[in-house]
Amino acid sequence: MTKRAKGAVRGIVQGVGFRPFVYQLARRYHLAGYVSNTAQGVDVEVEGPESDLPRFFDDVRSESPPLAHIRSLEWEEIPVLNETGFVIRMSRGGAERSALISPDVCTCPDCLAEMRDPSDRRYRYPFINCTNCGPRYTIIMDIPYDRAATSMKKFEMCPACRKEYDDPDSRRFHAQPNACWDCGPKVTLRNGAGEPVVCPDPVSGAISLLTEGGILAVKGLGGYHLAVDAADHKAVIRLRRRKHREEKPLALMVKDLETAREIARLNETEARLLASRERPIVLLGKRRFHGLSPQISPRNTDFGLMLPYTPLHYLLMEGPYKALVMTSGNMTEEPVTIDNGAALEVLGRIADYFLTHDRDIYLRSDDSVLRVTDGVPRQIRRSRGYVPVPIFLSEALTDLPSVLAVGGELKNTVCLTKENRAFMSQHVGDMENLETLSFFEQTIAHLRRILEIRPRVLAHDLHPDYLSSKYAKSQKELPTQAVQHHHAHIVSCLAEHGVQGPVLGVALDGTGLGTDGHIWGGEVMLADLASFERKAHLDYAPLPGGDAAARHPWRMALAYLDRAYGDALFDLDIPFVERIDDQEARMVLQMIRKGVNTPLVSSCGRLFDAVSALLCLRHRIAYEGQAAIELDMRQNRKATGRYPWRTGRDEGCLVLLTDDVVRAIVDDISKGVSAGIISRRFHRTLIHMMSEVVCRIGEETGIRAAALSGGSFQNATLLKGMTRTLTEKGFTVYSHARVPPNDGCIALGQAVCAGMSVRGIEH
Ligand code: ZN
Ligand code: ZN
Ligand code: FE
Repeated sequence: MTKRAKGAVRGIVQGVGFRPFVYQLARRYHLAGYVSNTAQGVDVEVEGPESDLPRFFDDVRSESPPLAHIRSLEWEEIPVLNETGFVIRMSRGGAERSALISPDVCTCPDCLAEMRDPSDRRYRYPFINCTNCGPRYTIIMDIPYDRAATSMKKFEMCPACRKEYDDPDSRRFHAQPNACWDCGPKVTLRNGAGEPVVCPDPVSGAISLLTEGGILAVKGLGGYHLAVDAADHKAVIRLRRRKHREEKPLALMVKDLETAREIARLNETEARLLASRERPIVLLGKRRFHGLSPQISPRNTDFGLMLPYTPLHYLLMEGPYKALVMTSGNMTEEPVTIDNGAALEVLGRIADYFLTHDRDIYLRSDDSVLRVTDGVPRQIRRSRGYVPVPIFLSEALTDLPSVLAVGGELKNTVCLTKENRAFMSQHVGDMENLETLSFFEQTIAHLRRILEIRPRVLAHDLHPDYLSSKYAKSQKELPTQAVQHHHAHIVSCLAEHGVQGPVLGVALDGTGLGTDGHIWGGEVMLADLASFERKAHLDYAPLPGGDAAARHPWRMALAYLDRAYGDALFDLDIPFVERIDDQEARMVLQMIRKGVNTPLVSSCGRLFDAVSALLCLRHRIAYEGQAAIELDMRQNRKATGRYPWRTGRDEGCLVLLTDDVVRAIVDDISKGVSAGIISRRFHRTLIHMMSEVVCRIGEETGIRAAALSGGSFQNATLLKGMTRTLTEKGFTVYSHARVPPNDGCIALGQAVCAGMSVRGIEH
């Protein structure tokens, strides 16, 4: 008997070849009806033998195209219309736009094969793509996702491309960025002044310049990269000098997994992540004889590696080098440059040549960075390839009001929520200059437009001086809600796991303003999504000079020594004391004792800094977190033992006293114990101290779940150690994976927390 059914598919189902897939499936079953994009997703109506309909919808779910992500598929019977034939109906704009947009995706195997086939009409075409691959988020201005709403609108398709675009049997049916040599964007090679370089093929021209040691700015998906041959030591040094990037590791691109294995150690999970269609940078242990410049990541045991993700990258990687440095095309601490004019001006000071093209990037997006810890890929910087896939919150939060959360100060991202979906932006960066602020504003405007979310509340950090907090305060039309930094960390971890707490939240972090006016960062809190109570913290230490102390770890070491020894610190027989400048040290001690520009901190990050400086690993840092990273990497993993610590109390809050730890470290140093052993013992101490305290509070409160967040949990030893210890003690332990543990997660936590408090008022 003939029946008709109407189905609604929700999720990432637009711009991913979903309609032609449904069309082909319907024809396979000989069903009549139609499929169409709507503002919410895809609607399907099919008519045919009763028994075929459920099978058809099962297949829609199970056979959907690679880039599709179905969140829900519901269908019901409707009256029969006695139609014949199946059609794809044209898009129509709707009132509510909740269809999800796909992130940018690396070139698919089919397109690669065509690009390498001399008989194909797109042979060596640097912008080849299809519905299964290519740019999305970075070229979309608006939704529904149609060519006119992308940066491809200025390229009119030639008859051959148009034919593919209109043919439901083609892999390029409605592939919005579809293009070819005749009609699409073109690559040009330019010199540092922006003048075209005359050469038969810009790509081979660029390859020769790179092999000669040139610095090349390459326009990619989400911005420019600066490229040099990674084995060319002089070129790497020149790039570092021109970019004012002293020591922070530079990302590498290699042409395939085999080459990746030659320079780094990777297991199966890491190989799969490296080759995934998101194509992130993956942090991997260096091999000893990698053959690349030692300046790629000096004093660091890792390389950040990625594989090519655009056709242009594949062409460029045909050059005779093992790896290219592909670092983001900006001056240090400024956002990635995307505009051609601006690129020339800013990057012209760094790059010798430009490999550029005429397809605009609407929204910049840096490469994402992940590391595999405990067998799980974990975000460090969630950006290109992942954004704008939402984080789905617990179903119980579907009635949360829409919130715009503006994030923190460093590693800023923003977050917009709609029902139980939280859309996190790409990495915006450190909010320390006007360029980043304007990128931040553009990102907010763009996300609001393409997601059509009208937030009802603005969430921001408790710190009033952050540029993001000031922005929130200046938006007069919306109520604002301040969220404590470390509570935001813990809530973000809970939100990622779809749980509501209460949990014991362990926030080990750099810095964030606390509710007592001091700076926090080594906290144990009893928290749920809406509120928290501080239960324990690292003891306060002075932060002489505020932010300057974070850049000069030796000041932190001095502060801890002063607390443990007073003036006797100058009699200590350790290299650190010999090395510090006496006059500078006395000046810093004056600041500490008089309390001039010296806030108090309970930060785990600063404690790491102090130990790193005490061991003379780092007196000064060239990038954020460097002292802690080098301390971590120095660990002698076979070392045993740990240092003594005690607890005190402060108004009902447990205080973890670290003076004994500092004294024991000084003893070890004077006995000539190696930095590697001391570093290991320090890590073991921190793990022991924090898990003991969590257990103690767990007993008091009866809570058996813990959440770990904060930048210090990028440290694999801490993450693994805390997870193992607490799990053994019977705790359920939540840690970050899809969202970074660092301040890139703050916006998510702010959004959920502010949403909860507003919902609380309305209920
Ligand atoms: Zn493709
Ligand atoms: Zn064409
Ligand atoms: Fe933080």
